[in-house]
Amino acid sequence: MSLRALLLVLALVWTSISAYSQQQPPILPDLAREIDSIAAIDNHAHPMLSPPADATDREFDALPVDNMAPQTDPVALRPDWPPLHDAWQALFDIDLQPPLTPDTQKLLDAARARVKAREGEHYSAYVLDKSGIATMVANRVAMGIGVEPPRFRWVPYEDALLFPLNNASLAAETPDRAQFFALEDKLRARYLRDAGLTKLPPTLDEYIAQVVLPTLKRQHDKGAIAAKFELAYLRTLAVGNPSKAEAAAVYTNYIDTNTSPDPATYKPLQDYLFRAIALECGQLGMAVHLHSMAGAGSYFSITGGNPMNLEPLLNDPAMRHTNFVFLHGGWPFVHEVGAMLQKPNVYLDISQQALVIPAPTLATWLREWLELFPDKVLFGTDGYPYSPYLGWEESTWLAARNARRALGIALTGMERDGEITPARASQIAHMVLHNNAAALYSLK
Ligand SMILES: [Zn+2]
Repeated sequence: MSLRALLLVLALVWTSISAYSQQQPPILPDLAREIDSIAAIDNHAHPMLSPPADATDREFDALPVDNMAPQTDPVALRPDWPPLHDAWQALFDIDLQPPLTPDTQKLLDAARARVKAREGEHYSAYVLDKSGIATMVANRVAMGIGVEPPRFRWVPYEDALLFPLNNASLAAETPDRAQFFALEDKLRARYLRDAGLTKLPPTLDEYIAQVVLPTLKRQHDKGAIAAKFELAYLRTLAVGNPSKAEAAAVYTNYIDTNTSPDPATYKPLQDYLFRAIALECGQLGMAVHLHSMAGAGSYFSITGGNPMNLEPLLNDPAMRHTNFVFLHGGWPFVHEVGAMLQKPNVYLDISQQALVIPAPTLATWLREWLELFPDKVLFGTDGYPYSPYLGWEESTWLAARNARRALGIALTGMERDGEITPARASQIAHMVLHNNAAALYSLK
């Protein structure tokens, strides 16, 4: 073939490829419009309070650690991430390019302050409005101004209840855990005060009856719809099934002396308490939320956080009256966590993944989950105050946009391959963005 003929053939091939890709948008336009119009339930995020309480709000996380040992940040958490521009524009009506300089950061701060001043106590709900979110499940130590039902539903933290003894041996495991356990000790002291006690009771039975169960009851009475565990930051997710006698012995042996049990000795007590809390959550109608993704910080145990560690617990018939939700879709164990959805009381959400994993990649495993268990997958953002340029507002907005794109790509692929009809694609979009969570928590 002559060079001229070869070029002609290449030109024809290129024209047909580009024509094909123009005919094949990654998301079917009708489906994209429908997905954008659904007012979502965000299964997991950390909204901050509205003005004037926002200035001193530290209750958006039980472990709000600002000084963890350095990690390699994923691209989406870096200051030069291009999509930041769109979030600043949409939320604060300001046209800035990342990365910000000290001067443009000041412009962003001022734009944010203007919107806060304009919106006042409605500011937190304004962020939801801008992100297409009707209801945000707020994982916070406590609720407050602007972050209240019906737009926000509460999920408090329970890890502090699992570690009632001297935690020095656990705190010594990594520099990050040294900070975490100091914070958990503070939160447990608060739960103790709320229970009307000044010190821990002498026996495990009394600890459960006077501290653990009343704390859950109080949270439920205040509107909590689920109980959150950041357990994967603190130890392995492998929860055993120790006898009560074994757990009680650890409690009584160490509560008096205030010495710190070594991690292996301590674990049966934590496991027993986790089970007691999960059972009570089932009684109260609260779901159990578990952090399940490679977490923040360079010392996070990705192995210990593998959701498969929880399978023995989930296969215990006693646990079948409690619903468990794997937050952040178990990344990198996305196939494993997907298989866990076959257990009737197990769900997952795409929070955090929706922020850091670009839509085309997230869509690949989202599609796998939706092909198998479309009624068990929940939308979520994990909006969180990461930094001065990526606040809870920006992370919520960006994750919501990216999640909708990923959902659109996954459902478009299923429709084009003849797996589902357009009507079913629309139905699944409503399920993921709203109906599955509404059914799980009995919300509207
Ligand atoms: Zn979170």
